[in-house]
Order: sequence, then structure tokens, then C-alpha cells
Amino acid sequence: MKNYDVIIVGGGPAGSTAGYLLSKSGLRVLIIDKSTFPRNKLCAGLITYKTVKLMERVFGETVESLKEKDLINYESDYYEVYYGDKLIAHRNVAVPFRFIERESYDHFLLKKARDAGTDLIEGEGIGLRSLDILKSSVTTLSGKTYSADIIIGADGANSRIRRSFFVDLFGREDWSENLAAAHEIFLSRDSVRKKFEHPVIFFDCVDCGYAWIFPNRERLKIGIVALKKKNKEDVLTTFRTFLSGLDLHLGEEKIHSYVLPYGCFLPSPAFRNVMLIGDAAGFADPLLGEGIFYAQRSAELASEAILEVMRCRKGSENCGNTAAHVYLKLLQKHILTELEYAGKIRHVIFTCLNKFRYLPLKLLMSLMGDKPVEMVHGIRSYKWMKRKKELA
Ligand SMILES: Cc1cc2nc3c(=O)[nH]c(=O)nc-3n(C[C@H](O)[C@H](O)[C@H](O)COP(=O)(O)OP(=O)(O)OC[C@H]3O[C@@H](n4cnc5c(N)ncnc54)[C@H](O)[C@@H]3O)c2cc1C
Repeated sequence: MKNYDVIIVGGGPAGSTAGYLLSKSGLRVLIIDKSTFPRNKLCAGLITYKTVKLMERVFGETVESLKEKDLINYESDYYEVYYGDKLIAHRNVAVPFRFIERESYDHFLLKKARDAGTDLIEGEGIGLRSLDILKSSVTTLSGKTYSADIIIGADGANSRIRRSFFVDLFGREDWSENLAAAHEIFLSRDSVRKKFEHPVIFFDCVDCGYAWIFPNRERLKIGIVALKKKNKEDVLTTFRTFLSGLDLHLGEEKIHSYVLPYGCFLPSPAFRNVMLIGDAAGFADPLLGEGIFYAQRSAELASEAILEVMRCRKGSENCGNTAAHVYLKLLQKHILTELEYAGKIRHVIFTCLNKFRYLPLKLLMSLMGDKPVEMVHGIRSYKWMKRKKELA
């Protein structure tokens, strides 16, 4: 007798969304997280239209209700893109960019999972040898073992579940090469003389990456992300140079650092009874690094696959497919093609910037009008900019 139907390692947006959906459908679910919530996660806090639609579809939360709960704390319908001191694109947009703080957003999602019936173990990590795929069990670092029919790895970019066996068997040897370095600093808005009321991104300071200034209600989030292998200079040193050029009088503010999957998504992140979702599978947009949506969307797809197969097993139908198999098919349809095309667009943009500097991009952005932003929001696909019926 297994302890649970599903064990999820990691209670970030990916793990909590899966926990919520599976518990709500009556499955016995356990989330194990090494942190105690509310916990923070390094992030710029931008959520796009497709994320807002997912929150509505999955949790029944609208933009208004998320604002009332103070989860969305800022929005802007204008953006600017710079190359050095040259403004190469700026525009008012029909669908605003919205901003959240991860401490409250992630805590809210985890509470939703708990309220739906998910059991939770906080402050307890798992290690590299914690997963036993044959026994379908996970042993925490303090030595407690839990078993389930299915184990989901939602333990972020440094996933122990993935590192246990996925990369060697089915993954990409270039995983760590395509993990970007990300650095961020937070400034109280009162402490900054210049007014930053909208998101600004800067394309010139690094190769294969960018820097940003994103406003939240109380603070500015200033950060950089870039592929280490493409940059001769250490990304942190570049970030310090970038910050000094902003003339912001930084004082003692600390720079926080983490990694971000940036084009290293796994093509087959499921095998037998184990599935990876979110950053653990490398599901962040290779162009802008957006990962909250892909974390929650892959959780939704994994849950759909598990529930479909469990329903089928309970009934009289002959289910040829495993949940892993169904999940991989759904991923191909809804996530992998998008990430592949975002990666191609990134390649074209940075090749162009390196060869011809900013003029072609400036021209392209002005010719394309609202389309680039609609792609980021998910209203259009990265694949040939096709408008998506379901989000229109
Ligand atoms: C600097 C920076 C800025 C970003 N900005 C944005 C942005 O503006 N918008 C956006 O959409 N995305 C952004 N991202 C990406 C986004 O943060 C991630 O894609 C997202 O957090 C992925 O969610 P997740 O649930 O897969 O993983 P996580 O949010 O990382 O959650 C993983 C969970 O697993 C737990 N865990 C980890 N290891 C273990 C272990 N061994 N045992 C048990 N538990 C474990 C952790 O405590 C954590 O709670 C940014 C990332 C960075 C680094």
C-alpha cells in the first residue's frame, strides 16, 4: 500500500498548482519542500496575460480578485527597450504587464493546495539519492520515506529529482551550459530620485541576455540574465558596471544571485512513474526567461495526464498509455513548440544585434506594432506569430 497517489517535491508555483489540481480531484497528494513558507524566490515578478488567464481557469481568480488580495500589486501598459542610451522601442499596450511579489504569490498558491487537501511537509529537503524509482519512493534528508504511484519533481532549477537520473538518461548534456546566471537588486522606490513607472529592458550590456528595471508598488527590481558561455566577462561584473551607469546611488544594497533555465528545457521530462514540471524541466522562455507561467502550465498538463490515466484505470477502458506518455504528448502540443520557437527568435535577435547593432531590431519592432508584446502575453504564438484562439 503506497502512502500517497502522488508525491510532489517542491511547493513553488509548479508544485502548488499540481497539488491543488490533483487534490481537488480526490487524489491523496503530498508536497515536500525544503523551505518553510512564506519563503522568497529571486524573481522580477512579471506575470503575463497567459498567466492571468491560467489563474482564472485553474483557481477561479480574476485580475480584480488578485488585486483585492494584494497579489497583483502593480501594473503598467507602457514599456521601453534600450540599446545603450538609444531608445529602440516604446509603446502603449492594450494588455498591461502585471507584477507580483513571489513571497505572497507562492504562499497563496501553496495555501490553495493545502485547502484542497494536499498534505505538506515544510523545511525538509531531499538529496541526490532520495529518489528510488523502482520502489516509487522518496526519502527526505532526515530519513523519512514516502511512497506514491507517481512522483513529480517540481524542485526548481537545481532539481535533485532531475539530477538523480534524468540528465544522464534522457536529458541534454548541455543543461548547465544553457543555465543562465541571473542577478538582481531591490531598491525602495522612495530611495530613487528618477521615476521608473513602467518596465524597461536593456539589450546591449550582455550577449544572449538582457538587463531590466521592473517597478513594483513599493520597490524597483533591477536585474540581469545572460548565458555564461556567451559572455567573456563574468555576468556579475557586467551587472555592477550596468548599475553604476544608472546613477542610482546604490549604497549597501545586496546583489542576489541565482540561475535560470534559459534554453535548456528537457524534451522528455517524464519516465515511468516520475515527471518533471516547471524549472526542474527547464521550462522557462529562452527569450525573456519567463518561468512562472510555464511552471503552472506544465503542472496543469501533468495533472491532466495523471487524472486521465487514473480515470481510465478505474473504468473498464483499456488504457494503453501511461501518465508519463500522455504528459509528453500534451507538452509537445502546448509548451515545447513555443519554447523552441522562442529560442529561434532569440538566436535571430542576438545574431542581428551582434552583427548590425540596434537599427534592424528598432525597425522590426516599429513595423511589428503590438505583435511582439502579444507574443510575450501568449495572445500570439512564438510560432509564426499565429493568433491563439483560446486567449483572444
Ligand atoms: C532573477 C530572476 C528573475 C525572474 N523573473 C521572472 C519574472 O519576472 N517572471 C517570470 O515568469 N519568471 C521569472 N523568473 C523565473 C521564475 O522565477 C521561475 O521560472 C519559477 O520560479 C519556476 O517555478 P517552479 O515552481 O518550477 O520552481 P521554484 O519557484 O524554484 O520552486 C521550487 C521549490 O522547490 C523547493 N526545493 C528546491 N530544492 C528542493 C529539495 N532538494 N528538496 C525539497 N524542496 C526543494 C524550493 O524551496 C522551492 O519552493 C525569474 C528567475 C530569476 C532567477
